[in-house]
Amino acid sequence: MQIISDIQQMQSLATSLKREGKRIAFVPTMGFLHAGHASLLREGRRRGDVLVLSIFVNPIQFGQNEDLDLYPRDVERDCRIAAECGVDIVFTPDAAGMYPPGFQTGVTVREVSLPLCGASRPGHFDGVATVVAKLFNIVQPDLALFGRKDYQQLAVIRRMVLDLCMPVEIVGMPIVRETDGLAMSSRNAYLSQEQRRSALCLHRTVVAARKMFAAGERRVDVMRKAAQETIGQEPSVSIEYVEFRDGATLEEQEIVDNATLLALAVKIGQTRLIDNTVLGEEL
Ligand code: AMP
Repeated sequence: MQIISDIQQMQSLATSLKREGKRIAFVPTMGFLHAGHASLLREGRRRGDVLVLSIFVNPIQFGQNEDLDLYPRDVERDCRIAAECGVDIVFTPDAAGMYPPGFQTGVTVREVSLPLCGASRPGHFDGVATVVAKLFNIVQPDLALFGRKDYQQLAVIRRMVLDLCMPVEIVGMPIVRETDGLAMSSRNAYLSQEQRRSALCLHRTVVAARKMFAAGERRVDVMRKAAQETIGQEPSVSIEYVEFRDGATLEEQEIVDNATLLALAVKIGQTRLIDNTVLGEEL
């Protein structure tokens, strides 16, 4: 396994691999890897000739009062996990290289970036789209894998790739959860034992909403109220949003269907957690 920090070196290696006809599979991450990331890497290993993992805590997708400086990092441990998953190249650029002095170009994906996390984190998806576009230009992947844990991010990337004719197949992967249902996240490391227990209300809400849907409920107002009540039972959890939206366009709905996305964002102490499900989709 090769570890490359230099952007030019990564780009020339990718160019020569492509000339040899190699299929490059790519998993972009912010590191502090867990089983969710590993599931993307294993699928990438299966689908590509060369598997590239990037680790980059992208400053431009963090808001001013967010956790950029606190974000957990452990590149050594990440490299061990990467090696176990069969990664060929770990790409670890630094912020100075990615955003050199005078940097002034960005990608904005408009409508799909606006609601949900886009509303509570202004500019976040511009930062995501811009860094992913840059990483695609450097790594030149044939396919890139993203988790559905970050459902809106996946929708933004799919839209960007379609709109800008990027020659990359986007693969969306299921949410990997702990045995008790908590969606895996690098940010779970911030939680105290007590907070972690409270965080299980997210999964409880997902399960309850799916049950209501399976039992025939279709009214968004009824389902939203039930979801808010489930989360409300945990006094230390504050709701950022509980929304039912079209799973493709992320537009609001009044009546849910198989393709409806339930998206949740909460804060527990200083920690922001998200979860989601598409009501009619198998888990
Ligand atoms: P991050 O390092 O948090 O930026 O995540 C990197 C990639 O891993 C993104 O495509 C995430 O959606 C994906 N990911 C993070 N957590 C999970 C999870 N629990 N299950 C599946 N994919 C995940």
